[in-house]
Amino acid sequence: KDQAQININQSLREVADLVEHIFRQNRIVIIKELDDLIPPVTGDKERLKQVWMNLLNNAADAIGTDGCIMIKTKLCAHRRRLVVSVADTGSGIQEEDLDKIFEPFFTTKPVDKGTGLGLSVTFGIIKDHGGRISAFSPVPSEYNDNYPACEGELGPGTVFFVELPLEGNTM
Ligand code: ADP
Ligand code: MG
Repeated sequence: KDQAQININQSLREVADLVEHIFRQNRIVIIKELDDLIPPVTGDKERLKQVWMNLLNNAADAIGTDGCIMIKTKLCAHRRRLVVSVADTGSGIQEEDLDKIFEPFFTTKPVDKGTGLGLSVTFGIIKDHGGRISAFSPVPSEYNDNYPACEGELGPGTVFFVELPLEGNTM
């Protein structure tokens, strides 16, 4: 394994920079609200970047055209963990599908568009980092209040929370 001290904000920025101009062609805007005071996390940078990539691509797929993706980081100091959230203004997830999305090969996309492996791989990577991932749809309204830059037809949306333990914590 490739363990290092990872600046999570930087890894998120690197991935967002890769996709931002592609998403913009579909009028999908990425908004970042990154807490610069968060400490580093021990982990595998490339695998964590794969997590961010999977979440951003799913968000863009769910939006199609015209919408926003919000990426937030924050420290949960008293629980010794970081929380990364990726929210979108896309189509949302049916309630009955919410507990299936992390299963391998579960997809609602056409065969040429999705394999249904992204979130199962993502789940495994976060688990290997001692963390947790969860999804909520629709996006809670207190989260939606933070989309001032969003225009157009907005869907119910989805938010993914990734929790990563900090040094000396087991979640
Ligand atoms: P794939 O993207 O290949 O379909 P994933 O494992 O990445 O596979 O996602 C599984 C399914 O979860 C998707 O097909 C979709 O139905 C749902 N999903 C994941 N992320 C989102 C999202 N942000 N908005 C709506 N649905 C989502
Ligand atoms: Mg996917």
